[in-house]
Amino acid sequence: MVVGIEKAVSAKKTPTAVSFDCVINLARGDPTMYQPYWRRMGDKRLHRVVGNAVVDDDRYVIVGTGSTQLFQAVLYALSSPHNPDTEPLSVVAAAPFYSNVFALMELVPFFRDIRKRLHYGVVSNETMEQTFVSRGDGVFSGLYKWAGDAYTFDRDGAYVEFVTSPNNPDGTIREAVVNREGGKLVHDLAYYWPQYTPITGKANNDIMLFTFSKATGHAGSRIGWAIVKDKEVATKMVKYMELSSIGVSKESQLRAAKILDVIAEDCSISSPDKEENFFKYGHHLMSERWEKLREVVKRNGVFSLPKYPRDFCNFKGKETDSIPAFAWLKTKDGLNCDNLLREHKIVTRGGTNFGVDSDYTRVSMLSLDDEFNLFLERLAAIKGTINGN
Ligand code: PMP
Repeated sequence: MVVGIEKAVSAKKTPTAVSFDCVINLARGDPTMYQPYWRRMGDKRLHRVVGNAVVDDDRYVIVGTGSTQLFQAVLYALSSPHNPDTEPLSVVAAAPFYSNVFALMELVPFFRDIRKRLHYGVVSNETMEQTFVSRGDGVFSGLYKWAGDAYTFDRDGAYVEFVTSPNNPDGTIREAVVNREGGKLVHDLAYYWPQYTPITGKANNDIMLFTFSKATGHAGSRIGWAIVKDKEVATKMVKYMELSSIGVSKESQLRAAKILDVIAEDCSISSPDKEENFFKYGHHLMSERWEKLREVVKRNGVFSLPKYPRDFCNFKGKETDSIPAFAWLKTKDGLNCDNLLREHKIVTRGGTNFGVDSDYTRVSMLSLDDEFNLFLERLAAIKGTINGN
């Protein structure tokens, strides 16, 4: 884990020695004395062990308060400085898309908070103006605007497409859809880990987002990281981080660094096939759950589930199945899937939240064993209700 912005490669270097006549800035209380220790940790970085992303190729790693904050940081970086003559940057994703982040764009309180901080002098006027455009009616509108489903996007001008692969909610492997000049891509690779999908190669995109939440399950630590090729984009992202939360909790970063190190160690000392390997453990658990779920779905005949192609996983050294973190359940007869499950005391997130019809719903596969087993029991019972037996 690299703190702040640093080239992925330079993280290994020893800090440059101070020269005899240089000014020593001791005005700030930043505890930099621990850096060498955490740099050594960097040697075992998880991406290198898992082989799911290029990290050693002159890239920048930016840590955020969850990848949710990095989404915002990336949009700020790609849309600033603002040109008042141009329309806000269009932001698209192919449906079904992960909705939280796009809902966030509509969050008025966030803009209000920035205004409040401006009022109290926390954010400078200049920064404010660079970030948001004040319209005549006093409403602050973003530099970027959610423009919906990438499949139907037909506006001219600059755009950003979010490519989530494997996708949340439906677990499919995704590629860019719009493919037009002037477009920028942001790859959200939250689920590109061996417990969810075969690792078919090192992702090598310009802007890649990862989150501790999905890699290890420590969502509460609120740590995400971006791997970015372009220095200017990376610098602006760090600026956004300072603006929105004055940095990322150091305790969370240290905790994440420790946990990632334990997992990386675990993967490198054991062969990827040994039981204690975290990803193998996760893959086993998920495979068993998916097998049970498919069995129930097949038996009750009310729902359907997507099928995923098998692929060779470089990490595991063999062909494996995709076993997504969410089940993308569909009612065969077009009933509202979320409502139907709610009637059976199962709360899910309906398709309309992801830009598609209500006959789809997203079910988390990551709950505790007892909850998951109860879910299967209730799901199996739905057949009885519908058939009246
Ligand atoms: N991207 C995707 C695809 C996700 O599913 C999630 C979490 N649901 C996030 C990003 C956000 O992750 P974080 O907890 O790091 O904010």
